[in-house]
Amino acid sequence: MEIRVDNVKGEVNYKKAIEEFGVTPIDEELEKLKRVTNLDKLYRRGIIFAHRDLHAITDAIKNKKKFSVLTGVNPSGPLHFGNKLFVDQAKFFQNNGADVFIPISNDESYVFRKVKNIDDATKNAYNIVIPELIALGLKKRKTHIFVSTRYRKIYELAVKLSTKITFSMIKAIFGFNNETSPGQIFYGVVQVAHILSPQLEEFGGPKPVVVPIGIDQDPYMRLARDIAVKSGFMKPSSTYHKFIRGLSGGKMSGSKPNNAIFLTDSPKIAEKKIMRAITGGGGSAEEQKKNGGNPDNCSVYDYLKMHLIEDDNKLKKIYDDCRSGRRLCGECKKEAAELMKKFLIKFDEKLERAKDQVDDYLIHER
Ligand code: SF4
Repeated sequence: MEIRVDNVKGEVNYKKAIEEFGVTPIDEELEKLKRVTNLDKLYRRGIIFAHRDLHAITDAIKNKKKFSVLTGVNPSGPLHFGNKLFVDQAKFFQNNGADVFIPISNDESYVFRKVKNIDDATKNAYNIVIPELIALGLKKRKTHIFVSTRYRKIYELAVKLSTKITFSMIKAIFGFNNETSPGQIFYGVVQVAHILSPQLEEFGGPKPVVVPIGIDQDPYMRLARDIAVKSGFMKPSSTYHKFIRGLSGGKMSGSKPNNAIFLTDSPKIAEKKIMRAITGGGGSAEEQKKNGGNPDNCSVYDYLKMHLIEDDNKLKKIYDDCRSGRRLCGECKKEAAELMKKFLIKFDEKLERAKDQVDDYLIHER
């Protein structure tokens, strides 16, 4: 396993990752969270596996205090189901009282050369990504979205924070070399400004903020937490979720179109991707009937577990039937494809309506 920022290779050993990154296993905090709210499926099913200081959020929910959740989005392309995982977590906290903040990092898309032209990323943000976020069901008055280069206060905050960050702190995150541009170096500071932005005075000042992330993004969190208190903010909390497997193997990635299902894929395309997916099934139907399959290493099961099935009993039956060999991959893929098609048809209707609502979700400069 190799984990660096934006670079995950091979099967991830989450137990080892907890040790390596020094984060806290979720179990104990989950018991406390369970006492103050109904847990989302991502928590019930072990998909969120670790945290830092989640107790600050549990306390805020319990005592009905103000808190926020922050999740960033890179607008270099349309959103996929890996991105949906972040939004689902934001919705869980929003349903428990949080304001949701979403910086759209058109600056990151450009400085890391994910797009050729920054205007393309900006247009993509307003025309595609923000309507998609709205269509995923975030609440109007409790969601605050901004496009990074269009929100001056982020850069003002980044400039202030930059005096507390050294080159070696940034280098430890990215592992820079001689090809690294100054924009990439400064983007590390902008990312920290994003994380701390819900605590700006105009949003009510310091408060608990939780940032759901993949474990590979933890170095950003460490940097933000390191400088938060000396910059007048509270240390942000974080939760860590398991990666969704790519349909053609490895971690899901938006840069490999057949590896991920995009929210704007047609039902037909999504069905094709699922029917061709790599599963945890045996070599032949006979073998699978005899030895069973392995849902714990199956991209189709990941979609069922993380996105498509709400009912825990139904999911457990699929798991058990797969393990025992009663369920074969062909029928399982068909069922997943049907559920996916239903989701995408509904999503498309919501997306049409969301296009007219973009302005209601944006933070406007005061
Ligand atoms: Fe995956 Fe379903 Fe095949 Fe089991 S039966 S390995 S869950 S596709």
